[in-house]
Amino acid sequence: MERVKLILKSGKEKSVKRFHPWIFSGAIKTVAGNPADGDIVDVFDNQGNFLASGHYQRGTIAVRILSFSAPSSEINDDFFKKQLSNALSYRKAVGISTSPNLNAFRLVHGEGDNLPGLVIDYYNGVAVMQSHSAGFYRRRHSIARIVADLLGDEVKAVYDKSSSTLRSIAGTEIIDNYLIGHSDPVIVTENGFKFKIDWTTGQKTGFFIDQRDNRKLLGSLSEGKKVLNMFGYTGGFSVYAMQNAAQVHTVDSSATAIDLADENIHLNFGNDHRHQSFKADAFDFLNNIHDKYDLIILDPPAFAKHNNSLDNALQGYKKINIKAMQHIRRGGILFTFSCSQVVSKEEFRKSVFAAAANVGRNVRIMHQLSQPPDHPVSIYHPESEYLKGLVVHVE
Ligand code: SAH
Repeated sequence: MERVKLILKSGKEKSVKRFHPWIFSGAIKTVAGNPADGDIVDVFDNQGNFLASGHYQRGTIAVRILSFSAPSSEINDDFFKKQLSNALSYRKAVGISTSPNLNAFRLVHGEGDNLPGLVIDYYNGVAVMQSHSAGFYRRRHSIARIVADLLGDEVKAVYDKSSSTLRSIAGTEIIDNYLIGHSDPVIVTENGFKFKIDWTTGQKTGFFIDQRDNRKLLGSLSEGKKVLNMFGYTGGFSVYAMQNAAQVHTVDSSATAIDLADENIHLNFGNDHRHQSFKADAFDFLNNIHDKYDLIILDPPAFAKHNNSLDNALQGYKKINIKAMQHIRRGGILFTFSCSQVVSKEEFRKSVFAAAANVGRNVRIMHQLSQPPDHPVSIYHPESEYLKGLVVHVE
């Protein structure tokens, strides 16, 4: 097969030489050939030196780099087998892999695992794949096979859930489906707590594994407290708080989310009247919480998906943080997060600062939080550090 050659404009090779895994369409001088979305192409500098190979796609990010050394002719199943096996070894090395106490983890985190465009979460026997690129979507069957071989008896089904990240490829609609086997929803264990995961109906791959360590920290600070979990979704933070809190309230605007949160509380604590959930809009709910809570969690959905909505997003973070800081009890603790990739750590911190300055209370940073090691951040790709959190003490 004729390989497609892509030549960059002079100077645009710099970021590739610093191992940044994306090539923007504006950096391309010529395309020799007629690549389809998802084809693997070779990238050269303006002098004709080989730079990288990767998945091509029309759009802002034209190439997602798979290798800075191997040409496209070497990007095959063996190549992906090696990358996926590296991803699993890394998780074992940092202490995350399936165990009776923990059987939900991210096996592949895109750029952080040198597989830009691919996410795979593992839930107690089921691997849920999400392709963010046409390249991985086209290869989904062979990736599923590799995952099944790699995990052996530990995986009974592989499900593709790409419809929320990819709209269509070459005019064909994306339909979520099992690639291998089949499974009903499963119950996973995270730090000893149980959660029901339904990847077919849930948001993203079904669960927010990325808050695992932060939920544990919350559990260590919730003893005897009145806790408010805003944007609670499956009730992750609520379950951890319930181990020792006096009262836990979960708020979400989605009725499905509230049902899931109730179910997870029940799974771990049975009918426990310390917990109550509310289907409500966060902005409204926060208007009526004066002096009711000692510990508040704000974990909203990504307020900004693109750079052009950045200002609105920062205003949104400021607004909810003002409300929480205004009304939290004296000596209260606020866990506040942003999962917008386009909002930097500094920008998020400034929003929280602006909120504190507006309220005028004495606010101190106790912890600065991020994502756990199964969501690794490539040092060459700071954008992969999407989860940012602050734990602040409000006098
Ligand atoms: N904290 C959760 C993840 C939150 S995801 C965890 O640890 O798993 C964001 C949640 O916010 C979703 O469940 C969504 O339904 C909810 N949501 C979005 N907009 C909202 C709003 N305006 N008010 C309340 N909840 C909202």
